[in-house]
Amino acid sequence: MEIKKQSSYFRKNVDKMTGYIPGEQPQDGLYIKLNTNENPYAPSPKVIAALKGEIDERLRLYPDPVSTSTRKKVAEVFGTKPERVMVGNGSDDLLTIIIRSFVSKDDKVVYPYPTYLLYKTLAEIQNAKECIIDFCEDYSLPDEILVKGAAVTFICNPNSPSGTMIPVEKISEIAGKIDGIIVVDEAYADFADDNCLRLVDKHPNLIVLRTLSKSYSLAGMRLGFAVAQKELINGMMKVKDSYNVDRLSAASAVAALDDQETFRQNVSRITKTRERLTSSLTELGFFVYPSQTNFVMIKCKDSYETGEIYRKLKERKILVRYIGQPRLDDCLRITIGTDKEIDTLLKELADIQLVLLNQNS
Ligand SMILES: *Cc1c(COP(=O)(O)O)cnc(C)c1O
Repeated sequence: MEIKKQSSYFRKNVDKMTGYIPGEQPQDGLYIKLNTNENPYAPSPKVIAALKGEIDERLRLYPDPVSTSTRKKVAEVFGTKPERVMVGNGSDDLLTIIIRSFVSKDDKVVYPYPTYLLYKTLAEIQNAKECIIDFCEDYSLPDEILVKGAAVTFICNPNSPSGTMIPVEKISEIAGKIDGIIVVDEAYADFADDNCLRLVDKHPNLIVLRTLSKSYSLAGMRLGFAVAQKELINGMMKVKDSYNVDRLSAASAVAALDDQETFRQNVSRITKTRERLTSSLTELGFFVYPSQTNFVMIKCKDSYETGEIYRKLKERKILVRYIGQPRLDDCLRITIGTDKEIDTLLKELADIQLVLLNQNS
């Protein structure tokens, strides 16, 4: 019998893929972690209490398959109805559900470049046809984003890694003109001045995605949600795993959303630090893209300097994100940490600049 290469068992499109590469997650706790946009502040103490209250013999039972209490709480906090809300194992789970719900092989999936890398991975898994539209130089959207016959168009707003924001009126205009579904991934909307939730009423093809990972400090719990008109939500519910949100995630989500005070305090601390970091980085000579998120993207002199800064920061136990793809090879993405962490970053950056200056002279 001929021995088959194991790679030949895979679907061809899967075999060819590189796969999504998440930011580094060192498990030794020795780094100042400014590379994956986690919240530097603890989640609400009510979350911890709710989790403890949930840990008992009920763990042998399956959770509510349609996450009734979480959807109710989301609807209450965001001024919508539970039937317009679907929850998932992080918003990444909802992105997978969206691709599986609306995209067949060879269908067009549209997204701008550069943006959240997972859209590409999901399109590749589904064997879709990718239409990748370059953002303009200032990270506004060109009209080419309106692709005829698109099945799904993804817009991360505010965008990662740039941190920049497309105005809500522009998104509404695109939603009105576009073929197919438009997904506005609002993972960072709580750090922004505006958001697209109010557009759901007007556009039957619009899905807004949110997550508790960033603004509610719950990346480790995995809870995201989608808001859309009822018909879309009902259809997507058919595609999800039966029990896609576990008992503990559901309880922590309800508790986190209930404590708007802690949430608001943390978001406001982060946006204040963001403004301070932006001016300090500008003073150090970097171009800083205007950010509506919990991170900033800076442009360095060239790709050599960018790589050197990334490596030297890492030697000094500070992790930032170096994406190193076309158009980003002279950019670094820096998550907003605590004020103390940001002070350390700025001190080390200034020192690294001196080291690089001496190297070159
Ligand atoms: C962090 C992030 C997500 C993933 O959120 P989870 O809820 O943790 O899965 C989705 N989209 C964007 C743009 C993100 O930055």
